[in-house]
Amino acid sequence: MTSSATEHPVSVPYQTIIGDEFENDVLKVIGQLSLDCESTDQELAEKTNLTVNSVRKALYKLYDSRIATYRRCRDTRTGHFIHYWKLLPIRSNILAFRKKALLTIEKIKQRLEYERNNAFYHCGKKECPILTFEEAIDYRFKCPVCSQSLQAVDNEKTIKFLRKKILELEAEVEDLSQKI
Ligand SMILES: [Zn+2]
Repeated sequence: MTSSATEHPVSVPYQTIIGDEFENDVLKVIGQLSLDCESTDQELAEKTNLTVNSVRKALYKLYDSRIATYRRCRDTRTGHFIHYWKLLPIRSNILAFRKKALLTIEKIKQRLEYERNNAFYHCGKKECPILTFEEAIDYRFKCPVCSQSLQAVDNEKTIKFLRKKILELEAEVEDLSQKI
């Protein structure tokens, strides 16, 4: 076995990273390929529970898409060629960056939802906390730290900032997608 227990550089879910570009067999095979450790089609078949033929088909698709590459050696015993497969680093790095950007977009979207769906209250002092409407009611619209009255916070700037950030990241993902 040429595989190791080291963490895969591009972890699942691959669907999120590469969209619906590939069918399940190919995704299973990507999941078992590594950047630094080579695998034979036999090993990949064992790990994915696919037939060697399905694995080979998947591998050549990945080769065509420049996701994976191989090194070919002749087996001195049988005279047959053995292919040792691994992921191509550039593609993998792009996939990893893209995945990270997609996760960040998801987080910012959640934050944006939170900002849109809540009203916020603050006394105006930097060192005091910003409260949600529900919290402000609990404290009877008095700051729990300094006791000054709470005022509604205009979070339009925050919302604008988050929207801009999402657009920037989406442009980055689009750009990365074209490089794959
Ligand atoms: Zn305060």
